[in-house]
This record gives sequence, structure tokens and C-alpha cells, in this order.
Amino acid sequence: MSFKDLGLTDALLKAVTEKGYTTPSPIQEKAIPHILAGKDVLASAQTGTGKTAGFTLPVLQYLSETKHPKYRPLRALVLTPTRELAAQVYDNVREYSSYLNIHSAVVFGGVKAASQIATLKRGVDILVATPGRLLDLHDQKAVSFKRIDVLILDEADRMLDMGFQQALDDIISYMPEQRQTLLFSATYPVKIEKIAQRIMPVSY
Ligand code: AMP
Repeated sequence: MSFKDLGLTDALLKAVTEKGYTTPSPIQEKAIPHILAGKDVLASAQTGTGKTAGFTLPVLQYLSETKHPKYRPLRALVLTPTRELAAQVYDNVREYSSYLNIHSAVVFGGVKAASQIATLKRGVDILVATPGRLLDLHDQKAVSFKRIDVLILDEADRMLDMGFQQALDDIISYMPEQRQTLLFSATYPVKIEKIAQRIMPVSY
């Protein structure tokens, strides 16, 4: 199985080749075709499995294929538990979108919001964020979730362990119900099962 066999376009294949990847990892082989088909995905994935490319590549492909020529509303959101993970995922998003006309950004707490607000104003297709700062920015009307097509929860179990349940519920409540949801979690405690049942009911 090659990345091309998974249905990825040339712009993404070029970026993947430049990263030095030759074959998809098992999670990439499984997840990429489902995500490209627009399905919800609930995946058990530890760090180091290649999960980031597993969701980033197909979501970037979707965004570039359905891009409006004029408008650039926020259409994909990746939520992560920590700023370190957010920065790491954002680096991947930037690398994989090198040959696409896609704008990305990252926002997390602990730094001033002003430059994040300015970036969001310029138009972002895909945003990587930690829940607390993202909610602050939403309260300040710096970002809207009304046009979100794809929601990705990365390391969902850690987000819940860190007390982000309420923030996640609030963020999700501002999104359209009609969307694709991708949930990645290393473990499956009951609270993950419950959140999955709530936010991706059809696929569950
Ligand atoms: P992740 O699990 O997403 O944190 O990825 C772990 C590491 O594997 C990262 O350094 C990636 O750059 C790398 N990686 C992801 N996919 C592949 C692949 N198909 N082949 C080789 N390395 C990969």
C-alpha cells in the first residue's frame, strides 16, 4: 500500500515524499480512506503511530478540494490538550500543506492574544488550538465555529483528564451538528465513550 493508493492528491504526495515517508503507517492506511470518504472516525492511537498525518492529510485534501474561491471561513478545527502538542500538530499541518492554498494557524494560552486575533482576522481554513484559549477568543468574537465542517479531537482522553470537558462541550455547542468528527484517544475510559456517543452519534 502506498500513499497514492490511499487516494491522496499530488500536492500532498509531494509533501509526504519530502518528509521522507515511503509507506503509510497502519493507522494511516486505516483512517485516511474513511476520512476522505467523509466518515466519522473513532481511533485508538498512541503518539508515535503517525496519527497526526493520519488525520491532517485527508482533512487538508478535503479543504483544498472544496475551497471557496473568495471566502475563507474556518472549516476545520483540531483541539489538543497542551500547547506543545498544538505546536507540533501545527508544524505538521504547515508542512503537509506546503503545496496547497490553505491557511492554517495555532492558538494556545500563555501568550498574548493580540497576534492570534490578528491572524484569525486574516482568514484561516484550519486552526489548531487548546480549548481554554480558543473559548476565550470565541467569547471575544475573534473566531466563529459556524462554518466548521471537520472537528478533530486529538488525545481526547488527556483533554478530559486536564478538565477540558466543559470547554469542549461549549465549543462543540457553537458548531453545526452536520459535520465530520474525528476522535483520537490513547485510552477508552467510560468518559470517552460517553463523549463519543454524544458528539458522533450516527457513527457510534
Ligand atoms: P505522530 O504519531 O503523529 O506523533 O507521528 C510520529 C512520528 O512519525 C512523527 O515524527 C512523524 O513525522 C512520523 N511519521 C508519520 N507518518 C509516517 C510514515 N508514514 N512514515 C514514516 N514516518 C512517519
